[in-house]
Amino acid sequence: MKFATKLIHGGQTVDPRTGALGMPIYQTSTFRQQSVDSFGKYDYARSDNPSREALEEAMAQLEGGTRGFAFASGMAAITSTLLIFSAGDHLVVCDDVYGGTYRALTGVFNRLGIQSTFVDATSVEAIAAAIRPETRGIYLETPSNPLLKVTDLKAVAELARSRGIITLVDNTFMTPYLQRPLELGCDIVLHSGTKFLSGHSDVICGFAVVADIDLGNRIRYIQNGFGAILGPHDSFLAQRGIKTLKVRMDQAQGSTQKIVQWLGEQKQVRAVHYPGLAGHPGHGVHGSQADGPGAVFSFELDSFQTTKRLLEGSRLSAFAVSLGGVESIISYPARMSHAAVPPAERARKGITDTLVRLSVGLEDPDDLIADLARAMG
Ligand SMILES: *Cc1c(COP(=O)(O)O)cnc(C)c1O
Repeated sequence: MKFATKLIHGGQTVDPRTGALGMPIYQTSTFRQQSVDSFGKYDYARSDNPSREALEEAMAQLEGGTRGFAFASGMAAITSTLLIFSAGDHLVVCDDVYGGTYRALTGVFNRLGIQSTFVDATSVEAIAAAIRPETRGIYLETPSNPLLKVTDLKAVAELARSRGIITLVDNTFMTPYLQRPLELGCDIVLHSGTKFLSGHSDVICGFAVVADIDLGNRIRYIQNGFGAILGPHDSFLAQRGIKTLKVRMDQAQGSTQKIVQWLGEQKQVRAVHYPGLAGHPGHGVHGSQADGPGAVFSFELDSFQTTKRLLEGSRLSAFAVSLGGVESIISYPARMSHAAVPPAERARKGITDTLVRLSVGLEDPDDLIADLARAMG
């Protein structure tokens, strides 16, 4: 099956009991058992719920894995998965990792004896140089947030595999439609399903997907034991959203190209960071490992005044946290996604006070451009 067909027919999408085209919302915490000697497939909804399971199967198929796990948020997926590591283990992490992940690694996992070294992951050499004897994981986001820096996933996966290290990729920006890290040799794919996957800004959810059976069993053990699972109603919402992933992404990506080109011609715009641009440093690598540049980019403005005017004045693009919804969302990384990163660290990473991120929605791109033009003044 091609991807568009998988979105509709992959996994379990028809209710086996009634033939309903939507998987029912099994709003139950427990399941009645028949026999003392052996319990049924479902016993307690933290362990398994048919609504969640259908979504998990769909995600496994879309990423080309064997197992998918749905969690209560992207952060729940990320932190639960990181619990496969133990005290004494070391991680190499891309230095512009999502702010919440940075916070969990430097505020929680370090206390548990899991240390992280943050490196510029555009350089495979820098990643290699940070590897220690106790390094067990390499954690990546590509294109990264908010500067859209690109990591060569195949090269890093090969390096990691040769040293017995697990490669984890947060694939939120791309979704499996545009990039499938497991096919490139990476071991674990993570998602904030809140974003493009669900796509309607109406549910918080997260995923982990693996190909390896043993790794799947380890994550399953934590999902059940830790309990940060996605509920049945949110599972339904996420699965409904995923069905339209391709048409939404195609539309948003097309509009993004138009907007990026227009922005590049504006005198208040100093730089545009988007891997779809030939001048982007990661353009070549991204093109070799992904099927498109996506619908999120960031740009640098000439002054804080212009930045403030744009953020507060845009009418169509909501000034908000998050991305990947049907509505365009304009955000301010320094005070939003990366607020948890200390100011000095933020400056070092190039997340300035004049950097704006735009997640392009499904509005007409001409209307979005007119709105940006008016708001920038
Ligand atoms: C939003 C986001 C997360 C966190 O996901 P939640 O669903 O908000 O918990 C993690 N990684 C990236 C890249 C994100 O954009």
